[in-house]
Amino acid sequence: MPPARRRHHRRGAALAVDLVCGREVAEGDVDAVTGHVPGGAPERASGTGAKRFYRGRWYYFCSLDCRLKFMATPDEFIEGAAPEG
Ligand SMILES: [Zn+2]
Repeated sequence: MPPARRRHHRRGAALAVDLVCGREVAEGDVDAVTGHVPGGAPERASGTGAKRFYRGRWYYFCSLDCRLKFMATPDEFIEGAAPEG
């Protein structure tokens, strides 16, 4: 089961946490830019955000910069943030 992180300062928007800088990212903002094509997404974002498909799930980032850092050592960020084992 995925960790349920709910915040209520944005109405109904799905928020993901940028594992690199800890910022909250609205998934809708990122999807609007990159499209929603699992595995084949162009992964381009014009300043609003970026996401990366890794080990079966999408990770969202506030910027391409954070995404690059994540991609360098993804497991470190994931293990650092994982609530379970
Ligand atoms: Zn970030």
